[in-house]
Amino acid sequence: MCGIFAVIGSSQAAAELYIGLTHLQHRGQDAAGIAASDRSGGLRIFKGKGLALDIFSEETIRDLGGFMGIAHNRYPTAGVGDSTEYQPFSDGEVSIAFNGNIINYPSLKSAIEQQGRKFCSSSDGELLLCIFADAYRKGGFFHAVREVQEKLVGGYSVVGVVEGKGIFAFKDPNGIRPLIMGRRGGPDVGYAFASESIALSVDGYNSLRDLRNGEAVFVGSDLKIESKVIIGRDHAPCIFEYVYFSSVESVLNGMPVYSVRRGLGKALANKVKELWPDMGIDVVIPVPDTSRPAAVSLAQSLGVPYEEGLVKNRYIGRTFIMPSQKIRESALKVKLKPIESVIRGKNVMVVDDSIVRGTTSRRIVRLLRDFGARKVFLLSTFPPIRHPCVYGIDFTNENELIAHGKTIDDVEREIGADRLVYMDPDALGRIVGINGICMACLNGIYPTSMDHAREMQEQRLKDKGRMVEG
Ligand code: SF4
Repeated sequence: MCGIFAVIGSSQAAAELYIGLTHLQHRGQDAAGIAASDRSGGLRIFKGKGLALDIFSEETIRDLGGFMGIAHNRYPTAGVGDSTEYQPFSDGEVSIAFNGNIINYPSLKSAIEQQGRKFCSSSDGELLLCIFADAYRKGGFFHAVREVQEKLVGGYSVVGVVEGKGIFAFKDPNGIRPLIMGRRGGPDVGYAFASESIALSVDGYNSLRDLRNGEAVFVGSDLKIESKVIIGRDHAPCIFEYVYFSSVESVLNGMPVYSVRRGLGKALANKVKELWPDMGIDVVIPVPDTSRPAAVSLAQSLGVPYEEGLVKNRYIGRTFIMPSQKIRESALKVKLKPIESVIRGKNVMVVDDSIVRGTTSRRIVRLLRDFGARKVFLLSTFPPIRHPCVYGIDFTNENELIAHGKTIDDVEREIGADRLVYMDPDALGRIVGINGICMACLNGIYPTSMDHAREMQEQRLKDKGRMVEG
């Protein structure tokens, strides 16, 4: 996934970028970085492994300073996870930070390497910088975006800085990954771009609008804005952002994430009332934190008590974005602790945001039973994930998905729940309400060409193997 952020017009760009990163931390916890520049140039970059809070000191932020800059929180969906992959990437003049995945990365990279070009990392972001920067020097900003959009297949949002010239942002032709533009008025007038609206508002920028699919925006150091859609295809933003990835305070494409999650709870309640009116539920609990708004509205709609039955160890990161299965499994053991008095002797309905590999779900069901639950009903606010995502969420291979090629009854048995209830895809689509939205991981209909998907999946498997061994 990844979180990206860019500002211009600030008297303290690095400080604003740092605050923005802390509010996008849920989008990636592997590494973070900031590239900041004064109005006339002098780019400074600092990046490291871990959370933004741990990487940057007061002194680092002061030294980075700047009038403009970009920042990145990393969630690995390509590469082997070493320090050469930390973003922003820079060639001195142009720096970029990106969120997403390039499907045809392996073949494009080897074609460019055959022309004698050397790469320092296994990241698709470095390839993007290479193509963008070469084209920028030949024909300027809009020409460079066109080159990227014509050559690169995938889902990506990009922010960047050109030394002494300004900042820029653009989306892929389908607008799969989010990117929002904000403006701050008053004496400290400036502009910012972020993966989510929450990062803009904490720094005092009002969300202006989501960038359109295929749109490119350049904000010069004189704060003059130029923007246009370069290549625009069908708008297909990721539906999983609303259900799982984005922060509950964020608004994407004009739709508050919180409202969507409340709506999902209500829709699940309607399904339960219609299909299993005699389930005998004693209590509804959420798997903290993402599913909480859905669990509250589900309990209200069913007229069943809502309780907190699982407590999250706040010092353990989101298991889903741990970079390998081995690390994910050990993190789960210390992640969730049950409240026995809420669970013992009850028929417990537990609500989770989604079921990807099934590791967490199995563990939760077992945990609830170990602590005395009579029955465990598991509800997922996202429908069965049966197809891989090739656009920057790290389930690029169908074999890692618990629901791939299986019925809901099969998954229910594997997880060990007394009843497994999934959200219906049609109801989910209606709640979010965006025509053409990407639901490829649910229905296998991908908004881009999938010609190079197999080679990308194989590359990702190889990278993960190297990551585990390393
Ligand atoms: S395939 Fe699923 S997770 Fe990936 S971009 Fe589409 S909706 Fe989002």
